Order: sequence, then structure tokens, then C-alpha cells
Amino acid sequence: MYFSVLGSGSKGNSVYVESGTTAILIDAGFSGKEIAARLQSLGRRVEDLDAVFVTHEHHDHIHGVGVISRRYQIPVYSNYGTFKGGENILGRLSSYSEFATGDTIQLQGLQVRTFAVSHDAADPVGFIIGNGKVSLAYCTDTGKVSHLLRQRLMGCNGLVLEFNHDLQMLKDGPYSHALQQRVRSDHGHLANEDAACFLQSLLHDQLQYVILAHLSTTNNHPDLAMKAARSVVGDNLLQLRVASQALATELMPLK
Ligand SMILES: [Zn+2]
Ligand SMILES: [Zn+2]
Repeated sequence: MYFSVLGSGSKGNSVYVESGTTAILIDAGFSGKEIAARLQSLGRRVEDLDAVFVTHEHHDHIHGVGVISRRYQIPVYSNYGTFKGGENILGRLSSYSEFATGDTIQLQGLQVRTFAVSHDAADPVGFIIGNGKVSLAYCTDTGKVSHLLRQRLMGCNGLVLEFNHDLQMLKDGPYSHALQQRVRSDHGHLANEDAACFLQSLLHDQLQYVILAHLSTTNNHPDLAMKAARSVVGDNLLQLRVASQALATELMPLK
């Protein structure tokens, strides 16, 4: 299995995953043009995608979903709450499949398992994509880490995990009190230290990649997120990366 975070942050999120001849996106929060360009930078094409799976209806996750679905006939998968909540932005889709949160969807050689996260959206989810040998978890836009979340992500070989903000930067930053409360709430986003603590509980020998994602450009700095993650990783040999808003990561292998 190979994956790349095409971009991550409040201005757009998308992750590319392929295994054998099957290729999917998790979210498409950039314009259709931008998604195509970022895939092209990896030597991949939008028209070869088999599906787009959508986590929730916020703009930074669904902005380009409708366009690529219509333009390239890409099937879209989400739960009902996300579809209803995002209807106006999504527009007409070339093909749509609904899942219930908790379902596992079999798509050719890939299994896509869905799990609930805690966020201010209709029915937000994360995904675990497996090919029978290795698995990748995508977990951003969650204000808290539940027992269920830990259970689900345990044993995955790759993690795309939210390191949204540094608490001190959020406190000292320009956000209004109300907005700070929203970000920090159980339905907001994970702080560096909470994410690091979560990561510590997920470490195991077969964990190969951890990508720090959905960093706030206002209330975080890549060095701070990395420092928090490194403080719990210790001597573990896994690869750590910070996903950027502007550029796709390289294609990373999970074996
Ligand atoms: Zn988001
Ligand atoms: Zn969101």
C-alpha cells in the first residue's frame, strides 16, 4: 500500500491511498484543478481513482468532491449526515453510496472501516484503510480521544493524526474567546499535547509512518507539533512527517 497526504489544514484536506490497482481519496478539500495537479506531482491521475470517501461536510474536506465526481465520474461515499449537511457544496454527484458510521466497505482489494469522531459536524468519521496485510488510519477533526478511537487505531501501520494547535499559541493568539472555546471543545480539534499522548498509546513495532496533520497556521508551528510527537516516540524507528497545506508529501510505502 502507498499513500500521500496531498495537503492538510483548514484550507483543504485530502489523502491519496493506493493498493494494487485500487486507488482512493479520503476527502477532497481543494479545487478539482488543485487535486489533479497534486496527484500529477506524484505521477497519478484523478481519472484512475476508484472512489472518494468523505469524513464530514466542512468546506476544507469537501470543496472539490463534487467537481471531481462529475468531471471524472468518480463514485463518492459518505454517511447520510455528511451528504445532507454538504448537499449544497457537493452538488450533483456522478455516483453516490451511503454507509452507516461503523460500517466497513469492501472496494475491490481494499477494506475501508469507518468510525465516529467527535467534531462539530453532522456525523463526522475517520477511516481505516486496509488491504489484508497493512492498514492506514485517517483521524483528524476530533476534539477528544475516546476509548473507541484508541481501540480502532491500535495496530495500524500508518497514522494520519491531527496535531491541530499549541495550547499556548491558541491562548496568546488572535482568536476570540468564543472561537478559542470552539477549537478546544470536545467537538473541536486536538491540541499537540493531547495528540502526542494519544500517539504514545498507539505505538507498536509495526507502526511505520505517523503523519502530523491538520496543523493550524495561526495557532501552531510544525516545529512545535514535531517536538510534541518526538517526545513520545523515543527510540521507535517509525517515520515522522508533518503534512503541509501547500504541497503533497511523497508517496509513502506501508509494507
Ligand atoms: Zn477540517
Ligand atoms: Zn471539520
